[in-house]
Amino acid sequence: MSYTKEGVKQEMLDNKVEFILLEFTDMLGYTKNVELPIEEMDSILDNEAMFDSSSISGFSDIQESDMYLVPDLNTFKILPNKIDEDRTARFICDIYTPDGTPFEGDPRQILKRAVQKAEDMGYSVNVGPEPEFFLFKLCEDGYPIRQRNDRGGYFDASPKDKGDKVRRDIVRVLKDFGFEMEANHHEVAQGQHEINFRFDDLLTTADNIQTFKNVVKDVASNHDFHATFMPKPIAGANGSGMHAHLSLFKDGESAFADENAEDGISQTMKHFMAGILHHASGISAITNPSVNSYKRLVPGYEAPVSVAWSHSNRSCMIRVPSTRGKGTRFEVRNPDPTANPYLALAVLIHAGLEGIRQELDPGAAETRNLYEVVDETVPTLPTNLKEAVHALSKDSVLMNALGDHTSSIFIEEKLAEWTEYSLQVSQWEIDHYMNH
Ligand code: GLN
Ligand code: MG
Ligand code: MG
Ligand code: MG
Repeated sequence: MSYTKEGVKQEMLDNKVEFILLEFTDMLGYTKNVELPIEEMDSILDNEAMFDSSSISGFSDIQESDMYLVPDLNTFKILPNKIDEDRTARFICDIYTPDGTPFEGDPRQILKRAVQKAEDMGYSVNVGPEPEFFLFKLCEDGYPIRQRNDRGGYFDASPKDKGDKVRRDIVRVLKDFGFEMEANHHEVAQGQHEINFRFDDLLTTADNIQTFKNVVKDVASNHDFHATFMPKPIAGANGSGMHAHLSLFKDGESAFADENAEDGISQTMKHFMAGILHHASGISAITNPSVNSYKRLVPGYEAPVSVAWSHSNRSCMIRVPSTRGKGTRFEVRNPDPTANPYLALAVLIHAGLEGIRQELDPGAAETRNLYEVVDETVPTLPTNLKEAVHALSKDSVLMNALGDHTSSIFIEEKLAEWTEYSLQVSQWEIDHYMNH
């Protein structure tokens, strides 16, 4: 939807909007927001909404902490009644510095730079994400406990599936938000669910992922559940991924389809996949940015471990679904929903475009199940956050994709997170070593 300033003003007045919510995303991927009363409408739309960014992750080490929230008019929505009974409008915002330039550490700005880079090479990109999540029960105080909402498994029906009503309410709210909804189903693990929405361009999809996660959490809490996008909440059960289906277009035509190729896949797609595989270790720091992320990327749970591509095998980082023609695409399987979607898509696109630029070769499609076959020649994804962050710090393509500001703060914060974690003594260690 394309809005003008006058258009959104009129719609807010017609709908008797009382509050305006200004949203943005911090470096760690959390949605942040500040609310203003409708009387501030004109100054908000004149880009005069200022805030103190000094306590926002990824914004903080700058001398000048005053920043401006510049609403993207295309993200204007009146919040659906089901999640907010008050008349509230929301905008997703870009962050500007007081001198009127976009803030280089704004994740949305970082993704916009990737979109621009693709455009400069003549490409536009579509992406379809598949975020998975768990529903946990709440204790009397309203805090989550480690008990899941059901014992269902993949595609199970009600009454084994006790998430169906929650998922339907989520779908309803997202439709009110203007999402085009696709399938929803119970996932493999007990208490695990997936809801799909339609692919879109990069920026719209990253915005949609943020809206999606917030709606899932809000609606789950209305049903007295806690929704978590944590990648591996339960040891021994499947974790939650956020696969990303990518397709590339040039002059309105798929740049990934090639009718004349035996497998229907263009050289451009092979180069793009090779770029992502080549930068896989550093990419993981962004697409799998938590200590817990690496407990998902292990053999046996449908999450990838190998840096390879395949037509069907889920042990590989990239899978190419059988659709051809305009729908020719590949699925990057390692991202998880703790990733900041703006940063994750930005690094994937920069890596892929670099693959095209250098005409990298991804080799032949992998046909083996790499959970079972040991082949030292096939690289694996990093096994922990520290390894991934070190790889990122040595990858100039990805460091440039993030820019100096964000790459340096990200690396510093994530290494501190790793150090803090590694100083903990876990129950596993007590159980294993107490008898020494
Ligand atoms: N949950 C799996 C993962 O971690 C994916 C399972 C699936 O979607 N088939 O990526
Ligand atoms: Mg799916
Ligand atoms: Mg799934
Ligand atoms: Mg998938």
